[in-house]
This record gives sequence, structure tokens and C-alpha cells, in this order.
Amino acid sequence: MMAFDVLKGAHFRFALTPKGWVRNLSVHFGPDGTILAASEDDNPDGLPVYDNPVVPGITDLHSHAFQYAMAGLSEVRRNPVDSFWSWRDIMYFFALTLSPEDMQAIAARLYLSLLKGGYTGIVEFHYVHNDLDGSPYARREELSLGIFEAAQATGLDLTHLPVFYAHSNFGGLAPTSGQRRFIQSLDSYAEMLDSLRVPARAGGHTLGIAPHSLRAATPEEIARLMELRADLIPGSPVHIHVAEQVKEVDDALEWNGRRPVQQLYDIAPVDERWCLIHATHLDDSEVAMIARSGATVGLCPMTESNLGDGIFRATDFLGQGGVFGIGSDSNIATFAAQELQQLEYSQRLRDRQRNVLAAMDAPHVATNLWSRAAQGGARAAGRPEQGLAVGGMASFVEVTSPEPEAMLPVEPEAMLDFHVFAGRGFHVGDVVVRGRKVVSGGHHPLEEQITAEYAAAMSRVAERLSARKMA
Ligand SMILES: [Zn+2]
Repeated sequence: MMAFDVLKGAHFRFALTPKGWVRNLSVHFGPDGTILAASEDDNPDGLPVYDNPVVPGITDLHSHAFQYAMAGLSEVRRNPVDSFWSWRDIMYFFALTLSPEDMQAIAARLYLSLLKGGYTGIVEFHYVHNDLDGSPYARREELSLGIFEAAQATGLDLTHLPVFYAHSNFGGLAPTSGQRRFIQSLDSYAEMLDSLRVPARAGGHTLGIAPHSLRAATPEEIARLMELRADLIPGSPVHIHVAEQVKEVDDALEWNGRRPVQQLYDIAPVDERWCLIHATHLDDSEVAMIARSGATVGLCPMTESNLGDGIFRATDFLGQGGVFGIGSDSNIATFAAQELQQLEYSQRLRDRQRNVLAAMDAPHVATNLWSRAAQGGARAAGRPEQGLAVGGMASFVEVTSPEPEAMLPVEPEAMLDFHVFAGRGFHVGDVVVRGRKVVSGGHHPLEEQITAEYAAAMSRVAERLSARKMA
């Protein structure tokens, strides 16, 4: 495992805390990587000083790491109407090209980018399990172990969700040949989850459960997964894709007359340990149901835009006290600032208003969104409450400006607005994950190696892709 410098504490000139921006904050870290003590003072203990503004790191609550390597390759129209579903065919084709070594190299490269994009944690929604022909690897959990390696090399906090995927649509329809690398039986899934427990504990990773969607797992299978969770990893996070596409809602209605979110709440005890990924297409009762249950909604605004999913009802949901976090999903973008910008802009375009996702007590849009996304992401990842305060994780990002002298003087309260909305890139100095300094002055100690291994993987993949033709 990569050995990073460990900080015992730090002194921040400007820090974003759960009560807003604070000047001159000293924090002390415990051996478990949480904040033991915090006080506003003049740094009497001589802690390392951060002059640049510091924000809590966000947990990226939804990623399919391998898709990072195909970002940008599906922006060509190939059909009279291209859609999520035609994109998915390309993604399946791509998934059938990658070796375990490729997948690990891609994940490490992605995680390195995410650390520089404002994230300090990741929830990997991991559904590629099998070899190219659909048979299990000698170690069934082979590809999950590659994800563990990538997280350990980069220092990003990992919550790993092995995904249960068994069907091609509602009603337990048989999977397609293109889905063969994803498919598990309940028994093989249980075996895989069990064998991941020891390496997860050794690497400091959190494990959770993820039925892929109501399309890919039947109500009976989801009930069995909940029993497995109670037996093997009680209280762990549960994530599921839901209501991302209008077609999914239509298929659900056709199958049993109920909308997907309604179906989920009918069959499962959804509570604050759950995270509903996308939840794009909701009626009024579903918005209220999710907010009331305390489940996090996992929004992936850049991917949802890229795939043409639709617009999440964020104003209604936040107005009812709903909790959300952000995910990079297809990894078409790796900056938290871009996701938050896109989330706000989707609401502005729909409502023809400005500064929509601010609150009366948090009028700065970016500050409000950043704090909420940090808290929601930590909850969805099954981690301690995130925030630069006692009990929070010692995970933070130092935000730098490439040309500070060329900027109008910006009050710290407005600093994030600038970085999220002014569109001049997001630049980091140090990134600290649970007290370990994994990025120092914008540089990661394994950066060159990770980048070279990714380049080697890409040339292998390019060769294999040119040898195959999409059907
Ligand atoms: Zn997804």
C-alpha cells in the first residue's frame, strides 16, 4: 500500500465548515482519520498552515470506473435518433474488450483525476465481474480486487459495491449476450461478497450492496440480497439505479402498473442507508416519499446530460429536506465543480430563473451545493458525517487559483461561486484524505507511473478495438 504523509492537524485561514465559512480554524486529527478537535484561534500549536481556502472533500457517490476510458468516444450520431439505449450498446461492446489489468489501470487513472477534481472518496458501483466469455475468473472477485488496488495506490477512500445483475428487463427477462460479463446468480454473488470482506477490511474499504436496477433484479432477488446484507455486512449502504429513463418508467408501468420508485418502496425498507441513483423521473408522491425516507439521491448531472436522461426535480426535492450527493457515473467529467454547475444550470434552464439551488440561510449557490453534496456523499458511502468539524472526516481539498493577482478580490464566501461558475478550471494544492496527504502541491507521488500504465492499457485496448467491429 502506498505510504502517504500523515498529518496530525492543520490550521486553515479560510475553511468551509457545516456552519459556513470560518476564518482561522485549527483542527486536530485522530488516528482513525476523523477530526478530534476544532477551534477558531491563532494556531497556538504551530500546525501546518493553509493560506488558500479549504473545502471538505466530496465523496463521488457513483462511478463505473471502466467507462472513463470510453469518455468522448460515443459523441458521433450512428442512428436516426441516438439515445441512452444506443449509447448502452457501445458501452457493452467496450466492456467486452477490457482485461483485468486494463480495468485496474483505468480505475487508477480515473481516481487520480478525481482527487484533483475535488473528490476525496468514491463509491464504485461495480458490475463487470466475469471474463470476456461470461465465465467466472478463478478468483470470482478478481475485478473487484483490481478496484481495491487502484484505490490503495491513489489514496482515494473507497466504498465498493459489487453489483447484482441477473436480467435484461422487468419481470426477470433473460440477460442478453452483451451483458454476460455482469451476470451473477444469488449464490455466486453471496460467495463473491463473502470473499471480499477480508481484503476490504485489510485495505480500509467499505463494502455495500447494489442490486443494479429493478430491470436487472427481481423483487424476490432484492429481498434475498437484503438478507445477505444482514448476514454479511449489516447496516452497510445499499445503492440502486432507478427511474433514469422515461422508457424505464413506461416498462415498469407496463409490467405491473406502478412507477419504479413506487415499486421500490413497496418491496424494500428504504431508509437513510439507501442511495437512489438518478431518480430522474418522479411524480409528486415519489419526490415526497424519497425525501421522507431519508434516502440520498445520487445525482450525476454531467452523465445525465450527456445521456439525455432528463432533469431531476431538485428544487422540489431540496424544498422538502431531501438529501443528495453527486456522482461521476460514466466519468465523462471528473470535476465536482462541473457536476454542481450542471445541476444548478439544469434547474435554471427549466425554470428560467437564476440562483435556484441556494437557500435563504445559504445564499451562495456553490457553497450551498458543495456542503450538501459533501454531506450526502459521505452518508451514501456509509462514512462518518462529512464536514470540517469535530466528528467529521479529516478529508479536505485546498483550492488554488492559477493567477490570483488577475482576479478581483473575492471574499471567501464567494470563492466557490467563482471556482464553480466562472469556468476557468478547478485547481488544487494539497488533497488530504482521512489525515493522509495524498496530493501535495497539486502532485500525486505515483502520478507518472499511473499515467504511463494507463497509456499502455489504452494502446492494448486500441489494438483490440481495431481488431473487432461493432455488430
Ligand atoms: Zn450508473
